Amino acid sequence: MPKLPQYASGIPHNRLVEITCRGNCNCGRIAKIAETKDSEGGTVIDTKGYAECLFCGYRATDFSNWRRI
Ligand SMILES: [Zn+2]
Repeated sequence: MPKLPQYASGIPHNRLVEITCRGNCNCGRIAKIAETKDSEGGTVIDTKGYAECLFCGYRATDFSNWRRI
């Protein structure tokens, strides 16, 4: 597995994806998939929600373009 950049450290790996950040970065960045509540009140990773750029906070909603890392 490639070494994660410093700004992505400390995030559970199953929530990380690589996105094309169209916010301040305007380049490929590591992002954190948002969590949501399931019908029983538990927390699940929302793979069809948004992923937030860990560098600038941009929210990518084009989940078909996310790349698992
Ligand atoms: Zn960004």
